[in-house]
Amino acid sequence: DGSIIVTRHMIDKLSRRSFAPCMKQMHNHLRVNHHLKYGARRQYGLFLKGIGLSLDEAIAMMRDEFTKKITSDKFDKEYGYNIRYMYGKEGRRVAQTAMSCATIILRNPPSAVDCHGCPFRHSEKQVLKQKLGSDAILKKEQIERIAELAELNQYDKACTRYFEFMHNLEEGGLGQLITHPNQFYEESQKIVAE
Ligand code: SF4
Repeated sequence: DGSIIVTRHMIDKLSRRSFAPCMKQMHNHLRVNHHLKYGARRQYGLFLKGIGLSLDEAIAMMRDEFTKKITSDKFDKEYGYNIRYMYGKEGRRVAQTAMSCATIILRNPPSAVDCHGCPFRHSEKQVLKQKLGSDAILKKEQIERIAELAELNQYDKACTRYFEFMHNLEEGGLGQLITHPNQFYEESQKIVAE
């Protein structure tokens, strides 16, 4: 379909430009802690698959990080299966699709030690503001505006404003609401690739 091939070496840059906050926080966690717990491996793994990261690249990317703390052997034994499963190469052999915002927000809420979920729904206001400010792109009043919407439980609007501010659009400039992290990515790539 003419879409570009995504390799693991492109993910840092793609993350900065085109990932929704939920995916950004898991990616950053992976880079810093060289590990992801089950909930994040699933939410992030299915997203990465959705943007076109191949099975081999997905395994290599996780192995590169995880083996900073554990052996390659242990990685293959404990984590390889689940990644192949998501790609439909194990078990029922049904490739799974990426989770929508509704699924992420309503199911399997993260505990304090988890990094999956939706920051607009699952992060305390101060923590959320810190996360939104970590790219040093958004202005203070834009962060306030987004945090207010999150506080009103309007997560889709909060994420849409985040998208618009990150891409220098005015409010409503995207012309649709964000309801899926892969939609966020695809819409961003349309703008970034122009
Ligand atoms: Fe991710 Fe959806 Fe939350 Fe945005 S609203 S951060 S895309 S789960």
